[in-house]
Amino acid sequence: MKLVSVVVPCYNEQEVLPMFYEEITKVTGQMSKTYPELTFEYLFINDGSKDKTLEILRSLAENDSRVRYISFSRNFGKESGMYAGLKGAKGDYIVVMDADLQHPPAFLPEMYSYVRNGEYDCATTRRVSRKGESKIRSAFARLFYKIMNKISQTEIVDGAQDFRFMTRQMVDAILDMTEYNRFSKGIFSWVGFHTRYIEYENVERPAGTTSWSFWGLFKYSLEGIMAFSTAPLAIASMLGILTCAIAFILIIITIIKSLLGLNDSPDGYPTIICLIFLFSGLQLFSTGILGQYLSKTYLETKKRPVFITKETEEIYLSRKKEAEASGKKD
Ligand code: UDP
Ligand code: MG
Repeated sequence: MKLVSVVVPCYNEQEVLPMFYEEITKVTGQMSKTYPELTFEYLFINDGSKDKTLEILRSLAENDSRVRYISFSRNFGKESGMYAGLKGAKGDYIVVMDADLQHPPAFLPEMYSYVRNGEYDCATTRRVSRKGESKIRSAFARLFYKIMNKISQTEIVDGAQDFRFMTRQMVDAILDMTEYNRFSKGIFSWVGFHTRYIEYENVERPAGTTSWSFWGLFKYSLEGIMAFSTAPLAIASMLGILTCAIAFILIIITIIKSLLGLNDSPDGYPTIICLIFLFSGLQLFSTGILGQYLSKTYLETKKRPVFITKETEEIYLSRKKEAEASGKKD
């Protein structure tokens, strides 16, 4: 028998969660018919939701022993949710997918067909269109992938997603990467292994709203660049070398001019002001980049936990049993 763990990070997903559960159990039910060797567990991560997500998870866990959940003490972000899920999953195969049905469960049988005979270690989807997304957002996303792949050795495929069907071996490799600043798109690619991409058209959310703002995505893309490339540091030093070279040339010209008695000093005041602005700007820019990397290093050295668990289905169900037992005694 092979156990498949379905890991689902959830943040304020009360509208879609019941729909998702219905859909996933339908698909996995069919899968266990086609592949009798498969059994399933669903591991939901409640990432500090402020709505009824936890209540829904509790009632799912009460009625279905395959449902497990980890509930965080606060919102830690999707990256932490995925990490917690991969860590808690017990399966021989592990699936990571969103709760909002933008990662259609209907792909699972196809994904499994690639992974089951050992040909691939991972099957994932790649969206070929960005339907339902604003033009500016798509343009920035494209630009991000272009820059990222230029300056980083880790290849990040445009349109690749966190919807993945992976072997235990690959997941163990991912868990060995214990960094605090997690950028999963990079991590999935960095660990290597043989990945099969399935192309598909973007699907819109049936309910609820995305928790990503444009600004949030922008910051996330910078995180990605810093986590998987040190090129910005090199840019800072290149800028330094370039400006030093210019300054050196200017100094030589000035010396030659005054030796030849061609000095025409008081002119050029605006030029000086411009140059002061330009170079102090460049310096601040470079120090800023340094600071960004330093702050990342600072957070890594603290070795803070990536997530903190407040409740799991095990804790909840045993508490409930205790309460029922003491209720009967009274
Ligand atoms: N999510 C999460 N923690 C967060 C934000 C999002 O666990 O802080 C989950 C969310 O519930 C969903 C998935 O991550 O299952 C993707 O989020 P969303 O649909 O908002 O992002 P998008 O699909 O727009 O990239
Ligand atoms: Mg979504």
